[in-house]
Amino acid sequence: MIEIDTASLIRLVEEKKPKRVLVTCPPGIRLKCIEVISDLSNTYNFDAIFLGESCYGICDLAESEASFLQADLLLHIGHNSALEKAGKITYFIDAYDDISFIPVIEKAFPYIKIYKKIGLCTIGPHLKKLDEAKDYLQTLGFFVYIGDSVPPLKKGQVFGCNYSTCETIIPHVEVFLFMGSSRFHAIGLYNFFEKPVFMLDPYTLEVISIEQDALRIKRRLIFNFYKAVDAKSIGIVIGLKEGQFNMNAALKLYKELKSLGRKVYLIAMEDISNDKLNAFLNIDAFIETACPRISEDFFDKPVLSMQYGFKLIEYLKGQKF
Ligand code: SF4
Repeated sequence: MIEIDTASLIRLVEEKKPKRVLVTCPPGIRLKCIEVISDLSNTYNFDAIFLGESCYGICDLAESEASFLQADLLLHIGHNSALEKAGKITYFIDAYDDISFIPVIEKAFPYIKIYKKIGLCTIGPHLKKLDEAKDYLQTLGFFVYIGDSVPPLKKGQVFGCNYSTCETIIPHVEVFLFMGSSRFHAIGLYNFFEKPVFMLDPYTLEVISIEQDALRIKRRLIFNFYKAVDAKSIGIVIGLKEGQFNMNAALKLYKELKSLGRKVYLIAMEDISNDKLNAFLNIDAFIETACPRISEDFFDKPVLSMQYGFKLIEYLKGQKF
C-alpha cells in the first residue's frame, strides 16, 4: 500500500495558503495522489490540477506548466529525495510503499550465501524498508553496508543517473542487493560498479541476477556507438524537461561534431520517442542530452547518451573507445 507524507503536505498547505495547486507524480501513485489531494483541496479550499504528463524522475519539474496554469504551488509527489524544494514553487513530498522485503530476502538466501559483505540500496518508495532489511540480513550473518545520504539522494537511495551513495561503500562490498522491481536501476548499478547485483522484487518475490541483462544492454550501447561513428548526419536532442535541460552540453557536442565534418542538427523535444525521432528522415544517428536511461530504450536509429556522445568525439579525434 502507498503512503503519502500527509503531515508534510498539511504543514506546507497551511504555511503557503495556496489558491491553485499543480500536482505531478509518477503514474503508479496517481490514483492515491488524486484521492489525498482532492480531500485536502476541499478542506483547505484550493483548486487542484493534476498534470497528466509523464513524470519519470525528480528531474521532471513542471514549473513552466505551473506558471502557464497560474498555480501558486507545485507539489511533486513520490520522487523522494533529500531536497525539500526546487525552482520557485516546487515542493517534494515523499511517498512510500509499505511492502516488506523479508519474504524476498528469504528467497535470496541460497543465491547470496557465498558472500559475506552486502551493499544495500533502493529507490524512493522503499527507503523506509532499508533498515528492516539490513537488520534481517545481519541476523543471517552478513555484514551489511548502506551508503550515507549524498544530496539529492537520501541514505541508501539511487537514481538511474546517480549512484553516489553506493560509491562511498564500494570498498567494503562484495555484492549489491537492489531492493525494488526496477530492472533499469539494477542494471545501472551493475554497469556503474561492475560488481554482482541481485534485484529483489518484493511484489513477485523474484531474485534476479542482473549481470546478463546489464551486459546485453552494454553490448547494444556499444553497437549503437559504432553505428554512430559511421553516421554522416547527427541530431543533438535537447531535452525540454526543466531538470534535464542541458543546452551547454548540446552546443558543445554540436560544435565539436561539426568541426569533425559531420552534418549536425539541434533538435528540442520533451519526451524523446522512436516515432518523433523517425520523423527526422535526414538524420542517421542521435545524441540526447536529457537522461542517460533513454539511450537504453529500443530505437530504429542509434541514440547515444550524452556520455557516449562525448566518447564519440574523442574516438573521432583518434582516441581509443
Ligand atoms: S535524468 Fe533520468 S535517470 Fe536521472 S532522475 Fe531524471 S529520469 Fe531519472
